[in-house]
Amino acid sequence: AARAAGLGGIALLGPAPGAPSCPHGPALLFVKTSQGGEEGRRFYACSACRDRKDCNFFQWEDEKVSETRLAAREEYNRNHQPSFTHRQNVERYKNFVLLPLSKRRFCQECQQLLLPEEWEKHSDHQFLCDISTAQLRSPSQLLYPLENKKTNAQYLFADRSCQFLLKLFTDLGFRRVLSVGTPRLHEMIQSKASQEKDFRIRSLLLDIDFRYSQFYTEDEFCHYNMFNDYFFGGEAARETCKRFLYEDNDERVIMVTDPPFGGLVEALACSFKKLMTMWKETGKEGHDNKEMPMFWIFPYFFESRILDFFPSFSMMDYQVDYDNHALYKHGKTGRRQSPVRIFTNLTPSMIVLPVEEGYRFCTVCQRYVSSGNQHCEMCNSCTSKDGRRWKHCVLCKKCVKPSWFHCNNCNCCALQNHSCEKTDAACFVCGKAGHKRSACPSLSCT
Ligand code: SAH
Ligand code: ZN
Ligand code: ZN
Ligand code: ZN
Ligand code: ZN
Repeated sequence: AARAAGLGGIALLGPAPGAPSCPHGPALLFVKTSQGGEEGRRFYACSACRDRKDCNFFQWEDEKVSETRLAAREEYNRNHQPSFTHRQNVERYKNFVLLPLSKRRFCQECQQLLLPEEWEKHSDHQFLCDISTAQLRSPSQLLYPLENKKTNAQYLFADRSCQFLLKLFTDLGFRRVLSVGTPRLHEMIQSKASQEKDFRIRSLLLDIDFRYSQFYTEDEFCHYNMFNDYFFGGEAARETCKRFLYEDNDERVIMVTDPPFGGLVEALACSFKKLMTMWKETGKEGHDNKEMPMFWIFPYFFESRILDFFPSFSMMDYQVDYDNHALYKHGKTGRRQSPVRIFTNLTPSMIVLPVEEGYRFCTVCQRYVSSGNQHCEMCNSCTSKDGRRWKHCVLCKKCVKPSWFHCNNCNCCALQNHSCEKTDAACFVCGKAGHKRSACPSLSCT
């Protein structure tokens, strides 16, 4: 229920001190709001799962929970942890790679590397044989992408986009990549690092998908929930992350994240700010007024929401492509039109986009833009968000989508067949006008 915030009159208040925990770490605090904007009753719900079927944790904020229920809940949380620990999985992996090819099996049903003594238990499961070193280096190809639409849809980068990101980081001189929910980028980096002598970049993967712990050591992967900044491996895992962020002899770090799109932007922003703070704390004087460099990969229609939380960010025109994204197939032009963009706090002019894919440099805007994105003299910027050529509306004093027309009723541009109903732009949390939900004084995350 939780991540449906924004719909059905439920708003996120944020992480709260002393929040109860579900198997996915501390729950988030939400509030039911009525039409008039009056605050309803507050409740805790799972941070990671939008679908009650995946995690049905629910508790009213003011609810009295009995000792027996607390104990039962703790036991439930313990029982809902993975059957092997990360440490055990690392040991298993060591044994697995010692096996001859003919004995290397992967159970597709359990999504698990099998040791010979376990074959028996999985005898009626489908499995893959002869798991090669190359396959072990690309777990994202071996594991099936989680496809639960609401909770965890895994959209894996197309090779083109993954290569692009990695080349960009290399060219910009980064030596470490904190990969938050980007397993495919992580594996590309780790795989190159193990094969190419001169390749100096390292990655640490933070992801909620524990299946990856079978392939990476505790210094390469942390089981992490990005909606509540929760390290399942506790303080030790947090320390691993901290160590990784420490920039020894100018080994510069960048964080990249590609969260599930259904996710609550405010919860994500809150966690990312905490990771930025962690980076800041590892630094000496040098970090004083700086932010950890970051790429947040997200659809363009979230631009204003992201900028609310990270005013130093700008959106790049680069269209991030995926291998298994059913929604965004080939557009009219024959090329895939993806709505997914890069939001970054790096100087836009440094983000060089591939000219061979049609991107060009706008000298006025000082950034690379899509081929269809025309510089508007009136706005004095390249205004298209979706890659198509936008048109300027003199009444709205801004550029709008090519399919929009100015509506005198609404006094703004809209689709021709829209219904002229005025909606008041009031804050979603408190219902008052004058500020957005992210700036609402009653929000607990700063
Ligand atoms: N394009 C990326 C994958 C993005 S899909 C790539 O190819 O590398 C979103 C990723 O976020 C998945 O790996 C998923 O496991 C992870 N994820 C989903 N919910 C999460 C959560 N609550 N905390 C941390 N990671 C999460
Ligand atoms: Zn949960
Ligand atoms: Zn099995
Ligand atoms: Zn314009
Ligand atoms: Zn208009």
